[in-house]
Amino acid sequence: KEFALSGSEQNPDITAKDRKAVLRDRLLGKGAPAPVQAFLDHGADFVTARTLEDLVGKMNGLTGKSLLDAAEVRRQIEARDLQLANPYSKDSQIQGIRNARRYIGDRLGRVASPHRILDPEAGPLIGVRLSVLTRKTLGGIQTDLDSRALGPDGTPVGGLYAAGEVAGFGGGGVHGYNALEGTFLGGCLFSGRAAGRAAARETA
Ligand SMILES: Cc1cc2nc3c(=O)[nH]c(=O)nc-3n(C[C@H](O)[C@H](O)[C@H](O)COP(=O)(O)OP(=O)(O)OC[C@H]3O[C@@H](n4cnc5c(N)ncnc54)[C@H](O)[C@@H]3O)c2cc1C
Repeated sequence: KEFALSGSEQNPDITAKDRKAVLRDRLLGKGAPAPVQAFLDHGADFVTARTLEDLVGKMNGLTGKSLLDAAEVRRQIEARDLQLANPYSKDSQIQGIRNARRYIGDRLGRVASPHRILDPEAGPLIGVRLSVLTRKTLGGIQTDLDSRALGPDGTPVGGLYAAGEVAGFGGGGVHGYNALEGTFLGGCLFSGRAAGRAAARETA
């Protein structure tokens, strides 16, 4: 269910804005939407198994190295599962899940009911190989209101402009300190426009 709820951009019911289908197929029913299921069935980075030992074996198989020790993974997951049974758990992730579920929108649409990871009813277990990438640089080149790049002394470097993410317009900056989702492109376009206008003025 966690997979059915996350990956909303792969959920045709949600992208087609078909509210009835979302309720019928995803929240009341079981299973993941077809495109998400396709990741499970065919994804080169996905492994599924019924037992933890089997899963860890397949995860190690993905990398060709025995990076994970099944006994250690079991120890950690069992410790986490124990905390789930504790209504006063101090585990910050479990507290975070419980907190998110206090809002009905998140409870219905985004966060699956908390359950023990090793609960056989909640299976199969799924492992996904992650790849590290740089998503947000938040800039580095200081600019003025004409998007002219400024040197270490704070004065414009002749003929050099900087716009978009490299100039700090991808989140942060104009949209506050936090790089909130969806706030990047506007600032990138805005600073590009300012740079283009200033460059045109300079060369006119
Ligand atoms: C997965 C993902 C999802 C995102 N979703 C959103 C969203 O929903 N809403 C939103 O507002 N923002 C989103 N963003 C952020 C937004 O897409 C970027 O901030 C924005 O596209 C940056 O635009 P840019 O032109 O400044 O830089 P880029 O688009 O990174 O362009 C820089 C270009 O410079 C080229 N380049 C680098 N080095 C050299 C070199 N030496 N010589 C020549 N060319 C070079 C690169 O190849 C690249 O084409 C997302 C970003 C990612 C990665």
